[in-house]
Amino acid sequence: MKKALVSGGAGFIGSHLCTRLINEGNRVICLDNFFTGSKDNIKHLIGHPCFELVEHDVVNPYCADVDEIYNLACPASPIHYQYDAIKTAKTAVFGTFNMLGLAKKNNARMLQASTSEVYGDPISHPQQESDWGNVNPIGYRSCYDEGKRCAETLCMDYYRQHRVKIKIVRIFNTYGPHMLPDDGRVISNFVVQALQNKDITIYGDGKQTRSFQYVDDLIEAMVRMMATGDDFTGPVNIGNPREFSMLELAQLVLKLTASKSKIVYQPLPYDDPRQRRPDITLAKEKLDWKPTVRLEEGLIEVINYFKQILSK
Ligand code: NAD
Ligand code: UDP
Repeated sequence: MKKALVSGGAGFIGSHLCTRLINEGNRVICLDNFFTGSKDNIKHLIGHPCFELVEHDVVNPYCADVDEIYNLACPASPIHYQYDAIKTAKTAVFGTFNMLGLAKKNNARMLQASTSEVYGDPISHPQQESDWGNVNPIGYRSCYDEGKRCAETLCMDYYRQHRVKIKIVRIFNTYGPHMLPDDGRVISNFVVQALQNKDITIYGDGKQTRSFQYVDDLIEAMVRMMATGDDFTGPVNIGNPREFSMLELAQLVLKLTASKSKIVYQPLPYDDPRQRRPDITLAKEKLDWKPTVRLEEGLIEVINYFKQILSK
């Protein structure tokens, strides 16, 4: 039995990870300040003898005996991370710094939840780990993008200077149950709008692309990444290479929900990347992993989830 700490464990991805780790017989400390996470996401784990929920802000140091740290604490949706940009940068940078300190003290492994946003508005396509990124350092998304880039830098410096066993995964757009209905991300927006027969809001011309992975595929990759040898740090892209335009996504959601919603076009947010698709050659080679859930299947899970939430 291992003792794992999941920062951001009450959030969308973190809650699925806590469940998986508990189901595999581990002890789990879930650390969260509940900025975007909720006890609802982990209510099935509360009271489990191996699960401990700690309300804590990762900007401040935390001490515990742990074998593994999954560092997920950070708001991920643009409306949430731009709500208090300075706090987002502190969470991404000081939070990672504190978790690395904890990993060093415990000689523990640490997996850093990085993001495809480190590629910014990518110049190469699909994005490979060797791509250094095209990121605006002074824009509205920078608190998150540059915060996560700095977090990767800290991980690599702790690895080189202190031999801390770090693992960096660059997560591409992920969706699934436990997303907030009002978190502003495209899948939750479109599904909730369609279920309520409200207008589907496409930002810009809808030709921009994203590649969406279902949360179960991501969790599988994270667990495999944590189990790789000490000298493999990554970064590794984790995502589903099937690429969709936002117009295609809107049409698919309309079809699957049999909704009467109309598509409307609204202004594109600042610095919105035009295209994004992971090259997952490295993940296939090092983790023997590839995504298994098709968007059509995963969307049905999300549609059913939001139907339940909206009926409460
Ligand atoms: P989320 O907002 O649902 O979860 C983030 C969790 O971190 C929440 O529970 C929140 O309350 C907690 N948190 C935020 N600031 C904190 C702080 N200062 N101290 C303690 N807890 C704090 O987002 P998510 O989609 O589950 O993302 C989880 C991680 O994965 C994030 O680090 C994000 O950057 C990364 N990621 C997510 C995606 C995606 O598509 N969802 C893509 C790339 C990277
Ligand atoms: N988007 C959209 N309508 C919405 C929400 C988002 O067209 O109601 C677009 C957004 O402009 C972006 C894409 O969908 O081009 C993905 O947005 P999201 O916030 O989900 O993820 P990110 O931009 O961080 O990849």
